Amino acid sequence: MGSVKDYFSSLTTGFISLVKGMTVTGKEFVTKKVTEEYPDNRNDAIVAERFRAVLTLKYDDSKHHKCIACGICQRNCPNGSIEIVKKVVATPDGKKRQKLDRYIYNLGSCTFCRLCVTTCPQDALEFSNDFEQAVFSREKLFKQLNYLPEPEEDILPNAEAQAKQKPAEDTAAAAAPKADAPAKAEPAAASSEVVTEVEQSMASLAKLQKADVAALPAPAAAKLKEKAEALQKKIDRLVESASAQDAAAIVARFPQLASKVKAAPEPKVEEANVAVTNVAEEVWKEMAKLQKLQKADINALPAPAAAKLKEKLDASNARVKELMANASPDELKAIVAQFPQLGSSEDNKN
Ligand code: SF4
Ligand code: SF4
Repeated sequence: MGSVKDYFSSLTTGFISLVKGMTVTGKEFVTKKVTEEYPDNRNDAIVAERFRAVLTLKYDDSKHHKCIACGICQRNCPNGSIEIVKKVVATPDGKKRQKLDRYIYNLGSCTFCRLCVTTCPQDALEFSNDFEQAVFSREKLFKQLNYLPEPEEDILPNAEAQAKQKPAEDTAAAAAPKADAPAKAEPAAASSEVVTEVEQSMASLAKLQKADVAALPAPAAAKLKEKAEALQKKIDRLVESASAQDAAAIVARFPQLASKVKAAPEPKVEEANVAVTNVAEEVWKEMAKLQKLQKADINALPAPAAAKLKEKLDASNARVKELMANASPDELKAIVAQFPQLGSSEDNKN
């Protein structure tokens, strides 16, 4: 009797156990699947926010990072995975300042201890959770974290500061043409604004081209490509609209831009059969310089750079007025043929 009782008891226990097991199976059968179908789901894969995949520099919306090249992260890294390359730049007030040139990070030796992020006084670093970092060579594990070019407002004050360092030369260049008009056509000083801008853009482009696009995350690579294209267009535009003198200076510096130079930028005047004089030529240059300055967004510049720009605009305007006031009727015709907006001055004089 006892064995029959045991038989039914174990049968019941087995059935209950089976029901329990089937309940778990049934529950999992209707539960949403969690299997990651990588790489099919790489666009919407969920990776934990705090996952430490790769060190990055934080960039804000205006493409600035906060790194001041103090080197604290480099000194604190236990594995020597960080190398800070510094450079010295001139500030608008003529002083020198240390700046970050290249932030080199070796993902291959990083142990993701996060000491660099914790000790950075500027809160300039963070770990990205972009987990797809596999590459085929160790060299590609070296990454330049400041991969975006410096914003132009950061570059402009340097150019302004350099200009400030030689005010005597500028003053002499502005005064000399009037006293010694025939010799004025040779030096390129009066038309160096375009050349300087091309030089700066070419330097930014070279920096961009140095970046290893293949090693960057897709959004950063796309941004980089977009920026490079915009810079190339800007350079093409500048070269195409440059005066003959500027174009010659640009091609001497960057021979690869020779094909972009338009032939004879002053055909309008020849067509008009108007004599090209030194005064007219000087007004053209001054107007080209003025138009270039007017393109700058003065509201977006830092106060010292904006003040400097305004000063230059006023000086340029005054110089044009002065030249127009002293020009002969033939010279005025040549000037107006090139810049019709100055026609009212000619009318006034006549
Ligand atoms: S990332 Fe931070 S700690 Fe490292 S150099 Fe830049 S400011 Fe200094
Ligand atoms: S996480 Fe640690 S090992 Fe990696 S770079 Fe930063 S300090 Fe160096």
